[in-house]
Amino acid sequence: MALLEVKNLTVDFHIPEGILRALDGINFTLREGEVLGIVGESGSGKSTTALAIMNLLPTPSGKIKKGEIFFKDEPLLANIDKLRGKEITMVFQNPLNSLNPSLKIGQQLIEVLQEHMGMNEKEALLESIETLKMMGIPAPETMIDRYPFEFSGGMRQRVMIAMAMLCKPQLLIADEPTTALDVTIQAQILRIFKNLRKSTRTSIIFISHDLSVIAQIADRVLIMYAGKILETSEVKNLFKNPLHPYTQGLLKSIPAFSKTEGKKLYSIPGNVPNLLDPPSGCVFHPRCPYIKEICKKAAPPLFKVGNSNVSCWLYKGADEL
Ligand code: SF4
Repeated sequence: MALLEVKNLTVDFHIPEGILRALDGINFTLREGEVLGIVGESGSGKSTTALAIMNLLPTPSGKIKKGEIFFKDEPLLANIDKLRGKEITMVFQNPLNSLNPSLKIGQQLIEVLQEHMGMNEKEALLESIETLKMMGIPAPETMIDRYPFEFSGGMRQRVMIAMAMLCKPQLLIADEPTTALDVTIQAQILRIFKNLRKSTRTSIIFISHDLSVIAQIADRVLIMYAGKILETSEVKNLFKNPLHPYTQGLLKSIPAFSKTEGKKLYSIPGNVPNLLDPPSGCVFHPRCPYIKEICKKAAPPLFKVGNSNVSCWLYKGADEL
């Protein structure tokens, strides 16, 4: 069953230079218990997707222009204030921006449980310690009395995940939760997410610019570019049989997949487009090695190819969605 359904979501940012379309009619669903990876370069719209779902788009510039979001078949945005922090939670890239620097970690966790779960202080304290333990925080009984600045970056991110999981949410959105961390800590944080997959029924949207991170954690993946979804696929399938030329380029850019030891690492030629003046037709056409005449004139719809969906004219003739 679909826990979350995003339909034709279109988000504009009204900035001094003009109107920037950050999301252009995206559609996807998230099933119960599923981990959905969203991958894309900076400016692709992946974080905007998360902020639109949470109704946290920057004001007054960010606006949902069109589209709908459903959570358990109900319109989400009408109910988001009740759901945010309890049934739907979010972990950001930089935990320092999300934790209150002047409150002890324990106070911050206890407040969440008192506000959303109606626990008394003693119950909330025990639950907080238990959740910190689940996140691999050593000696949580002591750590709970410390301030955020006394934690390392990796430990702070564990605290943020603990805070996001305290109320056993149905949906957790993690926006680049490992990006600011060094590689060994990144691996530890990924292990926490893998454990959450096994031990809870929480559905997770895991956002990253790094396909190799998504490969380790997600069931399915959306490839985003310039505010559009270019491909959706099961993760295993995506690595075996990437369909979209952009996805193929992303995979070639991963060192382990490039098999170019001693050679310069591949990078996709060209730059991401300026969304104030996006390319006509297929948004990827200025960088695509397979461009055809139609690509400049018309944006490709999503075509169904096996279990994947791909927005590219190379698959014209497959079922159109
Ligand atoms: Fe390349 Fe055309 Fe496919 Fe776009 S639609 S990715 S330009 S082949």
